[in-house]
Amino acid sequence: MSSEISESLKKRYITVRDNGLAKIFKVQDEIISSIRTFLKNEGFIEILAPIIGPATDPGIRGAKQATIDYYGFPFKVMSSMILYKQMIITALPKVFALSPNIRLEPLETVRTRRHLTEFRQIDLEVAYATCEDVMELGERMLCHVIAEVKNKCREELGDRIKTLKVPKMPFERYTYREALEILKGAGINVEYGKEIPWEAEEAISRMHSEPFWITNFPATARSFYYMESREEHGVLEDFDLIYPEGFGEAISGGEREYRYDKLLDRMLKSGDNPADYEWYLDMLRIGIPPSAGFGIGVERLTRFICSLENIWDAVPFPKVAGIPSP
Ligand code: AMP
Ligand code: MG
Repeated sequence: MSSEISESLKKRYITVRDNGLAKIFKVQDEIISSIRTFLKNEGFIEILAPIIGPATDPGIRGAKQATIDYYGFPFKVMSSMILYKQMIITALPKVFALSPNIRLEPLETVRTRRHLTEFRQIDLEVAYATCEDVMELGERMLCHVIAEVKNKCREELGDRIKTLKVPKMPFERYTYREALEILKGAGINVEYGKEIPWEAEEAISRMHSEPFWITNFPATARSFYYMESREEHGVLEDFDLIYPEGFGEAISGGEREYRYDKLLDRMLKSGDNPADYEWYLDMLRIGIPPSAGFGIGVERLTRFICSLENIWDAVPFPKVAGIPSP
């Protein structure tokens, strides 16, 4: 099976001529422009995303970061621009970027059909915002995009237009603890304190016909830059949005830790080396505003909207773990 996937991806210069793919990329064009219009109407400024830097997001669930030799300095290729979002909101309070990310995902992610090693996020951040603020924004954004695509891409969507519904707001919310209970009820045990594994994420997604939130992940499951809950020690002010019908995670986001002492403490607890984050720590020492934000994967959104079996059909030049495709 995986050798079939590999052969097909390595011959993308032939398979890309398939008319089905062209329709998907037209839908994707509409997805991107409708998000841009939506965010600009909300007062966001689009910025250019960084591609490389001395440090990048360490919270990438078992994927490896890619490193390049930058004039003798080991530089990272962005796994996400989170650290940079916290930098730019000191100048612009509402920003977004179409941000390219590289993550050397484990080989077994070929089986999830929702992991690429090169993908893009619409990554946004709002100074002084809370989880509530950006979750509400995320709901309206997703509804807007689906409505626009349904309107403008009738022909490209084909039969999917009948099953693709504009979700009802507000979306259902579960805490991480509640999500674990739901999974337990279905015979799937997830250890408290860990990320929800790929299969369990897909299973809970299959139990739903509308997108839903999972909030308040334990600090041990996530990176140092999330704000710890004011109510419960060891739990974060964060959230994931999960697509229905087995499509899995759409969004991750939350409120950010912006206080130097607290952040350093979190960094030491998570086992990250402060020496690797020199500019970031110096920035926090000088002071930055609190903020909240999220990232939504563009290829995952396209996969969901077009109801594609494989995420590699949601990108013109797909890169999948272990496959050296063009
Ligand atoms: P994360 O920082 O891991 O939560 O990633 C943010 C968003 O990017 C996720 O919610 C997904 O929509 C998307 N994403 C993360 N990893 C991948 C991947 N390997 N392939 C495609 N999309 C991804
Ligand atoms: Mg995530």
